[in-house]
This record gives sequence, C-alpha cells and structure tokens, in this order.
Amino acid sequence: MRHLRLRPALLLRGQKWKLRLREPLVPGHEASGVVAKVGEGVTRVKPGDKIAVSPSQACGRCDYCREGREHLCRNMRFLGSASLYPHVQGMFSEYFVLGERQCYPVSGDVSLGELAFAEPLAVGLHAVNRAGELLGKSVLVTGGGTIGCLTVVAARLAGATSVTVSDLLDRPLETARKVGAARIIRADRDADALASPQFDVAFEASGSFAALKSCVAAAKRGGTVVQVGTLPHEPLPFVVNEIMVKELDFKGAFRWGIEFDWAVEYIGSRRVDVRPLLSGQFPLTEAVKAFELAKDKTQSTKVQLVAA
Ligand SMILES: [Zn+2]
Repeated sequence: MRHLRLRPALLLRGQKWKLRLREPLVPGHEASGVVAKVGEGVTRVKPGDKIAVSPSQACGRCDYCREGREHLCRNMRFLGSASLYPHVQGMFSEYFVLGERQCYPVSGDVSLGELAFAEPLAVGLHAVNRAGELLGKSVLVTGGGTIGCLTVVAARLAGATSVTVSDLLDRPLETARKVGAARIIRADRDADALASPQFDVAFEASGSFAALKSCVAAAKRGGTVVQVGTLPHEPLPFVVNEIMVKELDFKGAFRWGIEFDWAVEYIGSRRVDVRPLLSGQFPLTEAVKAFELAKDKTQSTKVQLVAA
C-alpha cells in the first residue's frame, strides 16, 4: 500500500454537524504537515516535503465520482467524520498515514499554519462556484467566521463588485473587513439593512435560520442564495413562497472538489493571504485551551493545534 507518515498542524472548526458518536473519534480534517516517511512506489512526495492535506477519500468508482462530483461520493471516507461506522479517524495526532493522492506538496515560504487553511478555503471557493458567474455582481455573506471570511475572499477572486458581510459580533466583522468586505452590518442592531432586495447573490455561512431569512429577503429578484453553513437539525419553517415569487435559485454547497487544488495554489503563492484568520496555535498538550479559545468568537477565528 502506498502511504506516508507526516507531522500535521491541525485545525479546529466549530462544528454544528449532528454527529452520532458511536465510538471515540479523533477529530481533525483541516491539516498540513511535513512528510516523515514514504511507502514503496510513492512518487508525488518525498520525506521533508511540506504538504497540504486533503481529508477527502472518495471511492473514485461510484456514479458521483465518475461524474466528477467526488465530494458527493456514495462511499466517502472523510477524515475526522462520524458519518460512517466504524468512524473515520481525523488528524489530531503527531503522525498520520495518508494516500499520496491526498498530499499536495508546496514549496516557498508559506507556513504550515497557512497551508492548513486549504480545506476551508476550498469550501469558500466551492460555494462561489455553486453560485455561478460573479463578475460584476453584488454579494452578501451572512456570518463572518472562517467560512464566511473565506467566501468573501473567493467572491472577490471571482470578480464580485462588492461584498457585504453581516454578523452578530464585532470581531468577525472586523476580520471580514481585513479580508476584503466592503461593507459590514451588525445584523442585531441594523435589521433594516437586510430587509430589502439588493444583492445578486447571498451566501449563508453562519448556520442560522434568521440569517437564511435575511439572505432570501436581501436577494434581488432572479438572484441566487447559496447555503454553505450547517443549520441546526430541528424542523425549520421555510421561506418557500419568497423563493417562488422572486424566482430565486436556492442551492446547497457541500465540501469541495477540484477547488481544493485551487485553494492550495492560492495559499501557496499567497495570492490569498489567510494570516488575518489565524488567531492562535497551541501544542497538542494544550488542546483544551485551544478548544476554549476556538469556542469564543469574540476572541478568535481559527485556532490551530500543532504537533511537535
Ligand atoms: Zn465515489
């Protein structure tokens, strides 16, 4: 079997996903590392290479994979996910064995901390890809967390004329400003700001139903709303009539496909600078402290665990 071992720098992301844990699960699906050792026949990487790690292990054989939508794979084994049993363990560890296809070597002085953003940037790029053409379009992103901010970055790369971000906290909005949001809105204090149709495309990246309602209200007739955040799983009253009368395209965006490759390119060349999103790094021995900081959105965006 082709494999390698590496020392990962690992990331935490607030997860609202409804996971039914049936056995202990090591989390960690946003990672980078240095190759420690390679197995026989490995050609893509060599010991010492700095790599971004794709957590996606699609089967490559099902109908979705064959149609080029591997992220929808029927047999997906996504690292750090409890969606299968036995669970697929994630990368919060000193060493990890991976297939070479999941390893993206990067040269230059970009740090491992930056490279570990390839996964969430790929999420933002995929959301933007789902929206269709953005050149000349006005864009709303609800939620100024990591995914929201990286959706801002992706929308600007795609040619959006202006990007507005809404959130309930000041810190995420300030971070969104740093990565290119032209306008920021405190949704709790300025409810009227999103009450009327004004955006061609709206991305819901906060995981809040109230924010989704704002996206639907603030999208222009004929516009597009993309759901990229994970909403709570309780039954939701839905705004179907508004989608109907405005002829909105309402789309889901889940994980990513080829966009991971693009994300590594953008970060590796620093065409995208993710450093404003990195709030702290902790050794594995201080994982609890890292989680505490990651939980507090008034203090942090992305917090990383670094294996020695
Ligand atoms: Zn498949």
